[in-house]
Amino acid sequence: MGLCVFDLDHTLVRTPLDLAAMAVEMRAFLEAARGPLPPRPERWRVGELVQWSKAEAPELEQALWQVALGHERRAMDAASLEPGALEAVTGARDAGFRTALWTNNARELTVPALERLGLAALLDLVVTRDDMRALKPDPDGWRVISEHFTARLGGGTASARTAPDHFTAPTDGADGRVRQGSKGPVPVTRRRLSRARMEPSRAGAADACRVVPRPLPHAPAGPVDRDAVVVGDSWVDGVAAAAVGVPFVAYRAREEELQRWGVEPVARLDDLAALPAWLVARLDGHATR
Ligand SMILES: [Mg+2]
Repeated sequence: MGLCVFDLDHTLVRTPLDLAAMAVEMRAFLEAARGPLPPRPERWRVGELVQWSKAEAPELEQALWQVALGHERRAMDAASLEPGALEAVTGARDAGFRTALWTNNARELTVPALERLGLAALLDLVVTRDDMRALKPDPDGWRVISEHFTARLGGGTASARTAPDHFTAPTDGADGRVRQGSKGPVPVTRRRLSRARMEPSRAGAADACRVVPRPLPHAPAGPVDRDAVVVGDSWVDGVAAAAVGVPFVAYRAREEELQRWGVEPVARLDDLAALPAWLVARLDGHATR
């Protein structure tokens, strides 16, 4: 089964989301309640502020997420389709790939935007921060993706296009807390996840914690990830994909950021509409080996 997993911001949609401004406001919120945060050479980033709140001020975490949601809501209201996005997702489906979204955004803002922009019906699965235990570059979202599609393969529905039932899936609300206890068989990726080590970001250019991927042995691919790819614009997408051994297709990514974080894309695209032809060629290559 082919599976094409897309990032959202600056991959399928363009938004004016300013993560640095979001972090400034989130830090101000925490400092108004708790006094100055510990000094550090780098600015505090969104993921780090969330982690600090979880550890030091859990009673503030829900309100902290509301600050983030305000920024995200304004950005999503102004979101527009990335050129080639519809062609990329439609073409991937026509080529026989399942399609999924893997985003750090909140579900309550993501799904309406997908519907407004005509993407919702083209995605078999939508995984938001409400569904995962940690944001990208942590690879936990892949656990959700893998379990979803592995369960469908196990249920004998591999050849049938699944209805987008995820759009009605319950969430834990807007506080960014994650749903635990996803059902389904444990995929091979869970063993791989243990090889990724989380570290606080020391010098990163994005709002996240750092994942240091370990070299992966050539383990037998599971039914889900054998012909899977992750498509995204950021090093966080590439690091998350590498941590679970899934090839990464970089879309207009900043090369210096990819190099800084050791991300090695299997392909680089400047035009999303070129993705389906690349996917078909890759599948053909696998079939003829
Ligand atoms: Mg992105």
